[in-house]
Amino acid sequence: MFRFGRIAIKIGSNVLTRKDGTLDLTRISALVDQIAELHKKGIEIILISSGAVASGKSEIRVKGKLDNVSSRQLYSAVGQAKLINRYYDFFKEHGIACGQVLTTKESLGTRRHYLNQKNCMSVMLENKVIPIMNENDTISVTELMFTDNDELSGMIAAMMNAEALIILSNVEGIYNGSPDDPKSEIIPVVEPSQKDLSDYIQTSRSSFGRGGMITKYRIARKVSDEGIEVIIANGKKENILPELVKKGSTAVCTRFLPSAKGISGVKKWISHSDSFAKGEIYINQGAKQALFGEKASSLLPVGIIEVKGIFEKDDIVKIFDDSGIQLGVGRVGFDSLKTKELIGQKGNKPIIHYDYLYLEQ
Ligand code: GLU
Repeated sequence: MFRFGRIAIKIGSNVLTRKDGTLDLTRISALVDQIAELHKKGIEIILISSGAVASGKSEIRVKGKLDNVSSRQLYSAVGQAKLINRYYDFFKEHGIACGQVLTTKESLGTRRHYLNQKNCMSVMLENKVIPIMNENDTISVTELMFTDNDELSGMIAAMMNAEALIILSNVEGIYNGSPDDPKSEIIPVVEPSQKDLSDYIQTSRSSFGRGGMITKYRIARKVSDEGIEVIIANGKKENILPELVKKGSTAVCTRFLPSAKGISGVKKWISHSDSFAKGEIYINQGAKQALFGEKASSLLPVGIIEVKGIFEKDDIVKIFDDSGIQLGVGRVGFDSLKTKELIGQKGNKPIIHYDYLYLEQ
């Protein structure tokens, strides 16, 4: 009856708030009813919910003017408490326990931290507790922030081997023009091999959340390339979640079909680790061809032309071609000093082993 056994659902701030910025309790309650229905039918659900900052804003009046960081910290501290309490009470009415997981980008930066986070969510799921995640906005500031919760949800869907990631927003999906233009239509399906559609997508941001359609599109492409179906749909629509996951669903949305190849757990982690990169490795055309060829290939010293930055063995680095186009990311087998020494040499061990290499298509 349902298409998936485990799903990640991201709910955006605009779905959870009214026009005046206050929390829309009717909407939260309706979404909890839908999630409870799926949970009771045996689907494992990981929820990534925004709305902390938005709901905090309507709670407090600040004296004077606060800078961006302070206001985010203040509003999220109050708003997250309010938000999780609402979820807790609504799920309790269904006899379901939920738990709060707050994270930061930094705490997913090393493989050990990442696996620790994964363990936390796995034990919750094993015990039928619904994890409700958000970024810990009280301590994650500036460069070390997630771009938005779309980025976080992509990482979590990959981490938890979800079969699908559903991104609920206040629009029906991705349009081939501006959503306000009557001539624009929803793009119903994006195939893994389809060309880049970024040019069609409107770049304006949502009013309460940080994300926009373009980040949703980019995350969706990346996550579906990892073998996870991504669905962008309108979270304000009646009964949208059961409609989306049932077999033969005709619900209006944009579906990014998963690439058949899929990738290993460690590659999924590496693919979302771009922003933790400590250095850059530039490679020649021969190495580029080998990496993108049919056969699985590792990055060897002979193909490297330049190494930038200071990194340790096992750190994440970005890989570029000789014209500066980023090709992917990988975990290095040597520190930066040793890698520099090995540039251009033949017959050495791989600088980045194939198993720890993620290439953008
Ligand atoms: N973490 C933010 C919040 O809960 C939302 C970030 C976003 O808009 O994606 O308010």
